[in-house]
Amino acid sequence: VAANPNEPEFHQAVKEVLESLKVVVDANEEVYRKNGILERLVEPERIISFRVPWVDDKGNVQVNKGYRVQFNNSIGAYKGGLRFHPTVNQSILKFLGFEQVLKNSLTGLPMGGGKGGSNFDPKGKSDREVMAFCQSFMSELYKHIGKDTDVPAGDIGVGAREIGYLFGQYKRLSTLFEGVLTGKGIPFGGSLARTEATGYGLVYILDEMLKANNKELKGKTVVVTGSGNVAIYAIQKAQQLGAKVVALCDSNGYIYDENGIQVDIVKDIKEVKRQRISEYANRVPSAKYTQGKGIWNIKCDIYLPCATQNELDLDGAKALVEGGCFAVAEGANMPTTLEATKYLQDNGVLFMPGKASNAGGVSVSGLEQSQNAMRLSWTFEEVDEKLKGIMKDIFKKVDDAAKRYNQAGNYVAGANIAGFEKVANAMIAQGIV
Ligand code: NDP
Repeated sequence: VAANPNEPEFHQAVKEVLESLKVVVDANEEVYRKNGILERLVEPERIISFRVPWVDDKGNVQVNKGYRVQFNNSIGAYKGGLRFHPTVNQSILKFLGFEQVLKNSLTGLPMGGGKGGSNFDPKGKSDREVMAFCQSFMSELYKHIGKDTDVPAGDIGVGAREIGYLFGQYKRLSTLFEGVLTGKGIPFGGSLARTEATGYGLVYILDEMLKANNKELKGKTVVVTGSGNVAIYAIQKAQQLGAKVVALCDSNGYIYDENGIQVDIVKDIKEVKRQRISEYANRVPSAKYTQGKGIWNIKCDIYLPCATQNELDLDGAKALVEGGCFAVAEGANMPTTLEATKYLQDNGVLFMPGKASNAGGVSVSGLEQSQNAMRLSWTFEEVDEKLKGIMKDIFKKVDDAAKRYNQAGNYVAGANIAGFEKVANAMIAQGIV
């Protein structure tokens, strides 16, 4: 903590992981302690921090902060999203980069971990302003990334539009048409099913977890939080597999629709018109909009937090247990506080942590890199099938690791341990670097 002051999110992410790893390190003292693995694991290889000046529509110069945290490349080039949101700071990007290292390890693909972004808020900006910002951001970032060094993707506030502008500027500055970003548009190297991947992957691993515990998704009532990329496709896949999704939200309030959320309307509101989720209630008579927090008070069997870090606190967790919720799978990164996670686990709620359950997005990003390298494009069905296989495999690794250390059913421990082992062994083999 003293070495990394004012970084509460980073401390939180590290604390959870180190607690899980204690049993592993204690059992292998000679290997891990002697090699300083934990000390090296928590220190990013480098952090690039830079100024991003751009001109708004009124002709005024605006200045934002830009970052790229290159955390660990022991199993592959750095890989992880870019987040554009006013709350972005070094602590948040370090927590995300740290989680990304272990997540990418779990996917089984050769990807190291990184994360980046800016405190720029794309909400309410014109397309021209977003382009001006993205071009300025990339004018610095392009020096530090490349298809074999660091391959960013999208995250909160960075979707297809932003990736397109960023790619255009990278190409212009480097003269290279290469797979330096993932989440690209389909005509210029994007992968089919990347847009759907995180949400679909979340539901695939949820399904695995339920089956392993003699439960099923069909017929269950589900609440999804957020209404962005992850939330939309989690809703779509959950419905395809026979669940009823009754609620979703944004940072202003939440929608309850007892007839089941109509995902096409959500897509139109969020992806096409870029409006607030309250608009859903104007368009669907059976829906009710409530301003503020409290979506967890809606009774559900399964809760999928897909918005942002620490959105689900202890009070929320208590309300979920009281309402009969028996499974939580994280679509967002670290959406559940440490206290809330513990409460859910102590009360028998099946809990799948984000670094396992939202790994579908980066997995298909990895598949996008493979397609770019081969100069080929796979069909939607091929990618979706591979995604399903990867999520199944992640569940197995997580479940096995928990069992190996006598913590069957503790998927938080399982994900941390399984993700760690591969990275740690690669680091040891590569010497003191
Ligand atoms: P988007 O920007 O598409 O959507 C984010 C959604 O979360 C918006 O609906 C936003 O609402 C809502 N939100 C943000 N803050 C809050 C809050 N405090 N309370 C309630 N709702 C809030 O982002 P993504 O869907 O891409 O990302 C969501 C989460 O999933 C993040 O944690 C991200 O790191 C994680 N993730 C994303 C992946 C991807 O492939 N996209 C991959 C793996 C993880 P509003 O419009 O009001 O801000």
